[in-house]
Amino acid sequence: MASGHMGMILRVNLTEGEFTTDPLPKRWKKEFIGGDGFGAKILFEEVPARIDPLSEKNKLIIATGPITGTLWPMSGRTVFISKSPLTGIWGESHVGGFLGPELKYAGYDVLVIEGMSEKPVYISIDDSDLQIKDARQLWGLTTDRLTSAIKKAHNDPDIQVAAIGPAGERLVRYASVLVNHARAAGRTGMGAVLGSKKVKAIAIRGHGAVEVHDHAAFVDLAKEAHTRVRSNPQAREMGKYGTWILTAVKQEIGELPTYNHQTGVFDGWEKLSGDYIRPKYTVRDRACFGCSLGCKKLNYVREGPFAGTLEEGPEYEGLMAFGSSLGVDDYATALRANQICNRYGLDIISAGASIGFAIESFVKGAITAKDTGGLTLQWGDREQIIKLLQMIADRDGFGDLLAEGSKRAAETIGRGTNKYAIHVKGMEVSGQDGRTHRSIALGHATGARGADHLRSLVVVDQLGYKDVAARRWGADKLPEIIDPYNEKYKANAVFESENAYCIRDTLIVCWYSVSWPPIFWMEDFAKMLPLATGETYLGQVRNLTTIAERQVTLKRLFNAREGITRKDDRLPDRFTKEPMPDGPGKGQIVNLDPMLDDYYTLRGWDVETGLPTDETIRRLSLEWTRAHS
Ligand code: SF4
Repeated sequence: MASGHMGMILRVNLTEGEFTTDPLPKRWKKEFIGGDGFGAKILFEEVPARIDPLSEKNKLIIATGPITGTLWPMSGRTVFISKSPLTGIWGESHVGGFLGPELKYAGYDVLVIEGMSEKPVYISIDDSDLQIKDARQLWGLTTDRLTSAIKKAHNDPDIQVAAIGPAGERLVRYASVLVNHARAAGRTGMGAVLGSKKVKAIAIRGHGAVEVHDHAAFVDLAKEAHTRVRSNPQAREMGKYGTWILTAVKQEIGELPTYNHQTGVFDGWEKLSGDYIRPKYTVRDRACFGCSLGCKKLNYVREGPFAGTLEEGPEYEGLMAFGSSLGVDDYATALRANQICNRYGLDIISAGASIGFAIESFVKGAITAKDTGGLTLQWGDREQIIKLLQMIADRDGFGDLLAEGSKRAAETIGRGTNKYAIHVKGMEVSGQDGRTHRSIALGHATGARGADHLRSLVVVDQLGYKDVAARRWGADKLPEIIDPYNEKYKANAVFESENAYCIRDTLIVCWYSVSWPPIFWMEDFAKMLPLATGETYLGQVRNLTTIAERQVTLKRLFNAREGITRKDDRLPDRFTKEPMPDGPGKGQIVNLDPMLDDYYTLRGWDVETGLPTDETIRRLSLEWTRAHS
């Protein structure tokens, strides 16, 4: 029966040099739906606890969902899942473009990369023509050159190439994977996992089609869904400016990370806003598979030290990481940084945050030019910042230390520098600040992959979703829900958004159709999923909620095997002990513990330990995890 899935898991064992296929277990479609869910099941069962993420025993999973590659809007995303070399816990990173649809057209829902090659290789998938190809001549290439070389070698411009750059080869702990050079699976070091396995790239071409259960009804609903995307005013703004629209919003609420998150307002914010950037730099709009919104921008620098830079992005997060957070009021610097991150394969958020850590440590006298190899670091020094970024990509001198991430770098340096390493569980904090946004504080503290703005980013309390909030939790609670400085009901908001985002990440669809703006929510997925999959069980919101709870708890159990408990669900002291110095949130700090109590209670996790209770494990049918603990 057609179900949106292709019904096949493809495995490549690099140690043995062989491919195998397994049928996709039928019950997984109901228990996990796809994407993140399939990845969590495979990683938990097949990767033993406490292994080195850069060892042969780790696996890297590339997964799609039941509507990947269909007519549903923004359904071209793919997820990379592995144990993270940056954090040592759950790692995942989603990416747009066309890779996921191509994997499904080739006949596979999931690709599992196992073992380790002795020499550089790339994996070639062309329907059932499966090869592990010699990549010794390609090792060392940047992702742009590599992608061109592979497309040329296959004489096929439509082949989809997921590649690592030199940073992945050098095992930079936050190395990324680039799809067709432009779209990054950035966070948690998936590029380093591929680098450790000596996989330079995965090239995929498929010629099949995805069949859904009720084609006619699904197509009608998908058309309606596209109309909703196109007619949403906020989505149209996103289409014009991408996530640059966030700069002004963040500045207004005092949540624009500035000088390594020391404050939330930045004097030079206007030069980092969409209104300023688009006319000055944007030369073309771009979109991922099946997207009528098209938030991606190709940008060009005409003057200044980075003149001639032509690159896609960066979005708000990169703008923050190499703009306000480093004291730079110049989009050209962020664009040049993004180009290096894309070509060398680096996560722009962790790279920028590691440089921010170094600058603050230097400015405050904890490190000197002796530590940096002669570099004098200061806020806003554009050329020095770009030089340091290149040193990270090359693991050159002081860059070698920063390539380990800010947590490890602080542990190595000592001298109190840990207070300048702004991370949660080893992952650098993204472009938010819990002091002026309490729900994000809770989301950062409890996120499975560390400080995460993409798994429970609650926008309802700050950005005008009052009607949504009132409908969900009752109008009487609205004043407290939308108060960004009030800890009350923030656990409810995180719980609800995390569940919806979890279903989003099993399908897999783009964040910007669910999170900001929330065009689709659980009810929409419940209407669509039975048409796509034929599973009537997926037509009930309460069942989708159970599936989401299962996945959140499964990731928690994965992290618990690695020793994560309540004691690790902490924020940097910057957010809990240093009052916000300026802006609308002046004087604010985060009181995390009451929110944690509420969150664990909602999740059915023990309030003392933060671990899922036996009853919750039973209720969510996760008893099987005990055999792998
Ligand atoms: S909104 Fe942007 S990121 Fe999302 S699918 Fe469209 S182009 Fe890609």
